[in-house]
Amino acid sequence: MDFPKNETANIPPVQLGPDSRFNFRCHKGLSCFTTCCRGINIMLTPYDIVRLKNRMQISSSEFLAVYTTPQLLEKTDLPVVTLKMLDDKENSCPFVRNDGCIVYSDRPTACRYYPLGVATLSFKEQEDGGFYFFIHEPHCRGFEEDMEWTVEGWRKDQGVDIHDQINAEWTDLIVRKRSLPPNIRLTDKTKNMFFTASYDIDRFRRFVFESSFLSLYNIKKEMVEKIRTDEVALLQFGFKWLKWLLFKDGELKMNEDAVALRKEKFSEKT
Ligand code: SF4
Ligand code: SF4
Repeated sequence: MDFPKNETANIPPVQLGPDSRFNFRCHKGLSCFTTCCRGINIMLTPYDIVRLKNRMQISSSEFLAVYTTPQLLEKTDLPVVTLKMLDDKENSCPFVRNDGCIVYSDRPTACRYYPLGVATLSFKEQEDGGFYFFIHEPHCRGFEEDMEWTVEGWRKDQGVDIHDQINAEWTDLIVRKRSLPPNIRLTDKTKNMFFTASYDIDRFRRFVFESSFLSLYNIKKEMVEKIRTDEVALLQFGFKWLKWLLFKDGELKMNEDAVALRKEKFSEKT
């Protein structure tokens, strides 16, 4: 798969912390209602895809094919996906209607954060409270309302704290890869593995359970049973595997005997 580059605007954000305060309220009575759901670029996280594909009752592969555009995230060489806008006059989100979002309770992380933006953060930075900024769009009237929030209160109210927690190890991979020299390139195979484990959870499940994968790693039985039935656990297991794949690091360890046997069989065939 070819991934076009995702270039982001280079506007220095004003840093907000968890206790920063702001006024905001979004509701149907505002003249701007749903204008923010058109002509936008929304990068989806792995957990966003799980929530949305379940909401639509389709497989992750189908969801990716119909609703997303693959891109390469700048400075990382890693494939990510954005929500594909419709080809209508306003480039509307496929889930927006005149009376709001039809997937509201499963909306993506970026929609939950809005009107806040979040800088990509490592575990440590997240534990320190994070780095947020306002997405000030002139059409958004929500800032004129009299409901006051702290950044932390907003995150909890919107359920984005749960999304961040589930995606944390994946976000850490991106931060870590971004910090490496740009000349460290990934092979197409590694990029495709990253894409599958990050976004295509149904395909990743087949890869784990219908190949020799489980025999090649030392994975506790309880973990195997957990990831067989718990989709979020499988997703987070995938992040650990990607850590091993990209950095040869983390909790996941190879089963050296199985690897040696596999190499032996392979050399016999060649
Ligand atoms: S533009 Fe702002 S206030 Fe208006 S609907 Fe979007 S988020 Fe709500
Ligand atoms: S997913 Fe929902 S909230 Fe997000 S842009 Fe689309 S319609 Fe708006």
